[in-house]
Amino acid sequence: MTDQHDSYAESRAAYAAACRLLPGGVNSPVRAFGGVDLGPVFIESAKGARVFDVDGREYIDYVGSWGPMILGHAHPEVVAAIHAAADKGTSFGAPTQAETALAERIVGAMASIEKVRLVSSGTEAVMSAVRLARAFTGREMIVKMAGCYHGHSDSFLVAAGSGVAEQGTASCPGVPRALAQLTVVAPYNDAAAVRAAFERHKNRIAAVLVEPVAANMGVVPPAAGYLETLRRLCDENGTLLIFDEVISGFRVAFGGAQERYGVRADLTCLGKIIGGGLPLAAFGGRAAIMEHLAPTGKVYQAGTLSGNPIATAAAIATLDLLARPGCYERLESLGAALESGLARAAARAGVPLTINRVGSILSGFFCDRPVRDFADVQATDIARFKRFFAEMLERGVYLAPSAYEAMFVSLAHTDADIGRTVEAAQASLKAVARA
Ligand code: PMP
Repeated sequence: MTDQHDSYAESRAAYAAACRLLPGGVNSPVRAFGGVDLGPVFIESAKGARVFDVDGREYIDYVGSWGPMILGHAHPEVVAAIHAAADKGTSFGAPTQAETALAERIVGAMASIEKVRLVSSGTEAVMSAVRLARAFTGREMIVKMAGCYHGHSDSFLVAAGSGVAEQGTASCPGVPRALAQLTVVAPYNDAAAVRAAFERHKNRIAAVLVEPVAANMGVVPPAAGYLETLRRLCDENGTLLIFDEVISGFRVAFGGAQERYGVRADLTCLGKIIGGGLPLAAFGGRAAIMEHLAPTGKVYQAGTLSGNPIATAAAIATLDLLARPGCYERLESLGAALESGLARAAARAGVPLTINRVGSILSGFFCDRPVRDFADVQATDIARFKRFFAEMLERGVYLAPSAYEAMFVSLAHTDADIGRTVEAAQASLKAVARA
C-alpha cells in the first residue's frame, strides 16, 4: 500500500519493487538519484519537453535521456519512422540499405569521417575506436583526461593522479591493473600535461582520447587553443586523436565540436543523438584507418544488433529533422536565454553560480570561480547542488540529479518553458541560500 499523502508514493513503491530484483533498483547507476533523499522518480511517459512520472506529476525535462532527445520526446516524425520500420521486422542480422543511408548522413555531417561503423552504445564505440587505434599504431598506451567519461569499458575507468599526467590506477574494482597502467590521465584543458605524457612515454601512445567539449563533469568547454594543441601533439608523435563526440556530436553543431572549433579528429565516436533515442552509436574516421576493421582488416569488432533497422530508422529521421535550417540557431538562443536567466536568478538570490555553456548544453556550478577542469568541479559545493536539484524537482523541473551532468535543452523547449524554469530557479536558489 502506498501513502495517500505522499505525492511520490508510486515512485517510492516502484523503487522498492525494483530494488528487490535489480541491483540498486536501476540499470544505470546515476538513475538511482544518489545523495537525494527522495529516491528516484519513476517515469511513465514523455512528450516534447515534458516527462510524466508514475504519480502523475509533470516536469520540464533537462535530462533528455542524458542527451539523445534533442528534438524533444516522442517527436511524431521519429515515432512514425520507428513504427514503419518495426512493421517490416525488428532485426535481420543482415545488411540493409538504411545503414548506408545513415552512414551517408554521418559522413556528410562530419568532415573527418570517410567511413563509419554502427554499434549499439557509446561504450562500444569508444572501446572499438581505441582497439582500432592500438592496432593501427602498433602501440598500447592511451591518454585520457580526468573527468571525461568514455563509457564503462575497462581502459576508461581510470582516475587521475595528482597534478601532472600520471600513469593511471583503476577507479573501479575489477579493472585489471595491467590494463589501467596503459591509460595515462591528464587534467582537462592542460595541454602541457599531455606534452609531458608524450615525453615520458615516447613512441608508446596510440591515441589521445578526449571529449572535445567535456560534458561528464558538468559542461567544461575547451580552452582556446587546447584542441589545436592536442591535434599538433598527436601529429608530431604519430598518435591518433580520438574525439568522443557521444554528447557533442550533432549537439554543439550539426557537425559536432569538430565543426564548432575547426579541429579534425582521426577517429570520432558518436552516440546519443544519432540513435534518436534508440540504442545506436558509431565510430568513424579516415578510410585508411577504418579499413583495418574486420572483415577488410584484422581488427575484430561485431554486433548482433549493430545497425538495427528500428534504431537506424529513428537515427535517419532525427538527423534529417536536425539538418533543417535554423535548428542550431534556435538551440543556441534557447541555451543563451536559459544561461542569462539562471545567472540573473543566482545574482538576485545572492548565490555564487558559475555557468558554463556550449550551445544547448550547460551547467551551473555552485562556486565563484571559473571551472576549467575536474579539480575545479570537485571544489564546487556539491551538497548545495543536491539541495538545488531537490528544490527544482519539487517545482516541476527535472534536472540531472548530479552536479557532474549537463542540462540538455531541446528544440521542444519553448520560451515559456525557459521562463518557467528561470522562475523555479529563482525560488529554488533563494531556498538554497537560506538552508
Ligand atoms: N562517451 C561519452 C562522452 C558519454 O557521455 C557517454 C555516456 N554518457 C559514453 C561515452 C557512453 O555511452 P553509452 O552510455 O551509450 O555506453
